[in-house]
Amino acid sequence: MSEDFLDNIFEKAATGETLIKNRRTLTIDYVPENLPFRDEETKTVAQTLSVVLKAARPSNLLLFGKPGTGKTAVVKKVIEHLHKKAKELGLEVIVPIINTKSANTAYKVLYEIAEDMGINKEEKKLQVHFTGLSMGEATDRILDFIGKKKLNVVLVFDEIDSLVDKNGDDILYNFTRANERISKGGFISLIGISNSLTFKDKLDPRVRSSLSEEEMVFNPYKVEQLQKILIDRARVAFNDDAIDGAAINLCAAMAGKENGDARKAIDLLRVAAEIAEREKADKVEEKHIRLAQEKIEKDTNFEILKNSTTHTKIIIMAIMKSKIGNTGEVYEIYSSLCRHTEQEPLTQRRITQIISELDQLGLVISNIMSQGRYGRSQRIKITVPVLTIKEALKDDPILSALLMIND
Ligand code: ADP
Ligand code: MG
Repeated sequence: MSEDFLDNIFEKAATGETLIKNRRTLTIDYVPENLPFRDEETKTVAQTLSVVLKAARPSNLLLFGKPGTGKTAVVKKVIEHLHKKAKELGLEVIVPIINTKSANTAYKVLYEIAEDMGINKEEKKLQVHFTGLSMGEATDRILDFIGKKKLNVVLVFDEIDSLVDKNGDDILYNFTRANERISKGGFISLIGISNSLTFKDKLDPRVRSSLSEEEMVFNPYKVEQLQKILIDRARVAFNDDAIDGAAINLCAAMAGKENGDARKAIDLLRVAAEIAEREKADKVEEKHIRLAQEKIEKDTNFEILKNSTTHTKIIIMAIMKSKIGNTGEVYEIYSSLCRHTEQEPLTQRRITQIISELDQLGLVISNIMSQGRYGRSQRIKITVPVLTIKEALKDDPILSALLMIND
């Protein structure tokens, strides 16, 4: 009897819920048995890695694609099978998968690699602990360990673009050069997974050429493909008849509009099911998908607003207060709010930049209006409900006073 099966019995008993059969299959980390529409990609990754089974070093591999195109899922699936085959053959392959976005600092990345490889079971002076070493020393200990134990290591840097944005490419440089040092046996190969298509431009040319010995691009899913992915997922996630076909189609259509993002599609499905459960509905229907879309959008906007800088928050307030909504007026109000809160105002040029970033995030719309022979001017409007903004800004000590005046 599988663990899921047992969990489900208890879950059902505890909550009285009847829609979701297997909640785990709707979470981010779940990798389904089959990954339709990713045969080519799976094959390429598998073929690249297959030489590991002959104890040879695979080429480094760089995978690109927009979020939700199945990159992480494909790599995890291939590695799962690689481990299985290696075990049958009595080979040891070590494959740390490091999400460099959640690891956050460069040192934490090294620490996670070390942990994963089992360095911290070594004698004390060879260990790599959570703090206390320089980056250079930590890297040396990892490479020495690989060399000494003659390990075959495939190191996966997921969300590698975020690592390079935050910390530059030093770590990657060290690891791409590592094989020169581990010459006595063992090897290290790298798989980089990037959400950004222009990621390579940020790399030092030596790192770039080494890391992309092989490359592969993952394309966004089409609506029909998302539909099939969702139907498969709904089958394992929901009880029979607990979701409408029309709801699945709508979900696919919405996620298809947003960059063909399968993660978005599955998020919609999960949130919609939660809403339906709360309503005690006996089915997930289209209306639940629509509510889910609203909720996800609201939560995302809320998080962005809450985590933005004080100046960005003041700009948002200035846009809210503006009547005409052109850059000049917004800047004037912004400057006066800065005076009230004793903040040194940023330049108008910087403000224009921030507004265009907010535009890209979908928090404001700024239309260029033609004003006849006087040229063109911008109309800036907030797209987020005032209540959401107030809720998101209210805990900021600098801004709470301003919000009170506003009430
Ligand atoms: P990426 O790493 O490209 O951002 P993920 O691999 O994390 O995307 O995929 C996002 C979500 O969509 C995951 O829940 C994953 O299981 C699912 N998914 C992606 N591609 C497929 C596919 N071809 N079939 C089934 N599920 C998929
Ligand atoms: Mg990913």
